[in-house]
Amino acid sequence: MGDLTKNFADIAPPLTPDYALLEANKCLFCHDAPCTIACPTHIDVPVFIKKIATGNLRGSARVILEANPFGHSCARACPVEVLCEGACVLNDRDEQPIKIALLQRHATDYVLERKVKLFEAGKPTGKKVAIVGAGPAGLACARDLRRWGHAVTVFEAKPQPGGLNTYGIAEYKLKADVALAEAQDILDLGVELKLGVTVDSLEPLLKTYDAVFVGVGLGQTKRLGILGEGLEGVVDALTFIEHLKTHPYHETKVGKRVVVIGAGNTAIDAVTQAKRLGAEQATIVYRRGEADMPCYDYEYELAKRDGCEFRFHAVPKRVVGNGRVTGLEIETPEQGRETIPCDMVIIAIGQGARREFAPPQGHPKIFVGGDCANGGAEIVNAAAEGVAAARRINELLGRTHG
Ligand SMILES: Cc1cc2nc3c(=O)[nH]c(=O)nc-3n(C[C@H](O)[C@H](O)[C@H](O)COP(=O)(O)OP(=O)(O)OC[C@H]3O[C@@H](n4cnc5c(N)ncnc54)[C@H](O)[C@@H]3O)c2cc1C
Ligand code: SF4
Repeated sequence: MGDLTKNFADIAPPLTPDYALLEANKCLFCHDAPCTIACPTHIDVPVFIKKIATGNLRGSARVILEANPFGHSCARACPVEVLCEGACVLNDRDEQPIKIALLQRHATDYVLERKVKLFEAGKPTGKKVAIVGAGPAGLACARDLRRWGHAVTVFEAKPQPGGLNTYGIAEYKLKADVALAEAQDILDLGVELKLGVTVDSLEPLLKTYDAVFVGVGLGQTKRLGILGEGLEGVVDALTFIEHLKTHPYHETKVGKRVVVIGAGNTAIDAVTQAKRLGAEQATIVYRRGEADMPCYDYEYELAKRDGCEFRFHAVPKRVVGNGRVTGLEIETPEQGRETIPCDMVIIAIGQGARREFAPPQGHPKIFVGGDCANGGAEIVNAAAEGVAAARRINELLGRTHG
């Protein structure tokens, strides 16, 4: 694949205003809309689409962002085939579903690009909440707490806010500058952000703050535990993707022949991005069969379209090399042991759970949400859980919901 900027251009480019209007007018504006029910943040989809149809983009964005503080990134990265668009009634008529995500993007881009401020901080309550982790869960919680007037301090280990939105989502879906602009919009409500601070115990926070929300995401990529894993050229998927997302494209090293171990959505992101960075051959190695792949079907289709290859029922046995990787030894039922020649191995077999912040049963001041609580889901789930936690914290702090 040639030009790198082109390779990482948005996979779902924005709608033109005319197309958006046309698409919005195709919506049947169902009552008890299945798309709204299917969305974990229950955005009132027919209402926001209706507002687009009447030219009220600001009002439309307000409906979206009121329910989902991460409506911008969700519009680019939600697995809509299994959420809102998968539930659209037009599917039952063998028609294409309404392009809900692209319409959502149309409205939210309008306000983000113009820096339109749709929300404001509430009257100060004198209550203070600490949030650990500036990912979608933490910042969604922060946004609603600020709207209710509570003081919020977010502690974030990384140099930038946004969590995996900034550091992990495939570059062709969501770019770091969009993720940072979205995070900044929330921070502008008067959230205090402490970057580069790794919280290792909640005890000190519990002494100073009225409540603590933990949204620390998942842990490190799991290791394979096979020989040769420490060779130069073996990298974990998150490190590879993070480098790509935070450096000019040509600065991220990619092999000529890349093997990705694993078949979840992260493995697909790694293999497609390796290919788009210029790998001549990019192959997924998976120990089970095609039907067992945990990735979404449309992600699998994308990888095939990108020219990635797949080896099923292939169990990695050893990374081969002398200092540097030269191959991956696998075992298959038909061939027995064989070595796939490669100069880069990307490990994408999932991330570990984070148990260190699991609150003692029912601790009244500790709340958790997002990947660290649900075991790893999507941005929209993290946003929904952050919003739900903010409500519970607000109740704890003795406030009624405005
Ligand atoms: C490679 C990859 C691709 C993905 N693609 C998609 C996609 O296309 N669409 C989609 O909807 N979802 C996708 N997801 C899932 C999505 O990114 C997550 O569900 C979402 O980011 C979870 O949000 P979170 O706030 O719970 O955690 P995170 O986004 O992980 O944020 C947690 C934050 O907490 C910080 N932190 C951790 N420990 C500490 C500590 N001790 N002290 C201070 N700060 C700390 C971290 O640095 C991080 O910034 C993807 C995930 C991965 C890994
Ligand atoms: S947030 Fe995601 S699931 Fe919800 S309506 Fe928007 S695109 Fe669909």
